[in-house]
Amino acid sequence: MELYELSAKRLSELIRKKEVSPKEILSSVLKRIEEKEDEINAYITITKDIAERQAEEAEKRQIKGELLSDIDGIPLAIKDNICTKGIRTTCASKILFNYIPPYNATVVERLIKAGSVIVGKTNMDEFAMGSSTETSAFGPTHNPFKRGFVPGGSSGGSAAAVSAGEAILALGSDTGGSIRQPAGFCGVVGMKPTYGRVSRYGLIAYASSLDQIGPICKTVEDCAILLNHICGYDPKDTTSAPIDTPDFRKALDKDIKGVRIGLPKEYFIEGLDKRIEERIRDAVKLLEKEGAVVEEISLPHTRYAISTYYLIATAEASSNLARYDGVKYGFREKAGSLIEMYEKTRMNGFGREVKRRIMLGTYVLSAGYYEAYYLKALKVRTLIREDFKRAFSKVDCIVTPISPELPFRIGEKTDDPLKMYLVDIYTVSLNLSGLPGISVPCGYIDGLPVGIQFISRPFDEETLLRISHFYEKKAGLRDGV
Ligand code: GLN
Repeated sequence: MELYELSAKRLSELIRKKEVSPKEILSSVLKRIEEKEDEINAYITITKDIAERQAEEAEKRQIKGELLSDIDGIPLAIKDNICTKGIRTTCASKILFNYIPPYNATVVERLIKAGSVIVGKTNMDEFAMGSSTETSAFGPTHNPFKRGFVPGGSSGGSAAAVSAGEAILALGSDTGGSIRQPAGFCGVVGMKPTYGRVSRYGLIAYASSLDQIGPICKTVEDCAILLNHICGYDPKDTTSAPIDTPDFRKALDKDIKGVRIGLPKEYFIEGLDKRIEERIRDAVKLLEKEGAVVEEISLPHTRYAISTYYLIATAEASSNLARYDGVKYGFREKAGSLIEMYEKTRMNGFGREVKRRIMLGTYVLSAGYYEAYYLKALKVRTLIREDFKRAFSKVDCIVTPISPELPFRIGEKTDDPLKMYLVDIYTVSLNLSGLPGISVPCGYIDGLPVGIQFISRPFDEETLLRISHFYEKKAGLRDGV
């Protein structure tokens, strides 16, 4: 096997034993980028010089036996909506095409302190609005399994980079499924931690009450490793939770005897590809055979999830994106007056989908409609949250598909936003409820990966990691990495 194919865990053991050097790992990854990037387009910016310098420093620490952590010297890709000091951060938008942040996001700061080697900034849907990485101003990313197919979105670049070996670890952000769905589409593991578990300081806001940063990796264990480094209270983010953080790696060793698993009946309905349903049911049978207790549960407000999500997310987005007016950041159009400058900058700086959402969000927040749409959506959000609360009084973990369909062709849904929004049916409820979820590969259909989603109680990522790690091992799809 090539070094770029291995997990962070394996590579870190090899570094510790001095069997490979961080520079060797980086050159394997950079060579892979050279071979694959033209085809995949996973990156917006590749930071080769920075990575080489960081790998050099990691190597010095390796020689002296002074490694900083279990990710020291491991190549990392960062979604391009997470601020990196001195490195362009575009959100895949023309309006930020030349924005260089003067500070690091808290997660980036922590990873640099742990010795990460930053390979680059990954492609995404513009401002994380999308499910296919097609709304990027830098061109679409292709699915590493099949060119011409989407990698999912919005963290499609991060998922494709890890899947293709163009990075070992990656960060994504998840507002309505943007870590989990692309991980599912690209055959890797993606985790959305509980809202508040990871600091959002330095994450360019899309919908602040839903956004969360999380890991995209080759294995569940790598997710636990990366989560260990990025989680924890941060005074710079007022929504970050002041609670203790366990060592998530330790959660992995236990078995799953007696674990109660719920299958929500509202999730196995028309519109779900029968072949995907079969894979999910097979996975559940496997867990049952290993001692899990499976039962059907009900999440009755599921059918309102998509509309609730798209009202709340667009409302928050319209407010968050008001700051891009050509004055403080990035792109600016020349014009005769200030108002004209605002108009032209926003008209030409934002792409179609982002403008659609700003308009929708502005509409639902406007005086005459606020109560009918936004306020009502907030009430339904509470009902959706209550559904999960009730379910978790009976079960420890909920299992669902990650997407109702397989990765689709680039261009297939771009003319029909509603079709695109429906792809998020299995992921948005977790963001509305603040719950943690993880997507793990559970098979292949027509040469394309299928993902399974595990959901647990708020701040119980340990159960989530334990069950998904156990499943990953038993299913044997990630063996050898
Ligand atoms: N597809 C969803 C949206 O377009 C989710 C995106 C995300 O999680 N950032 O809003």
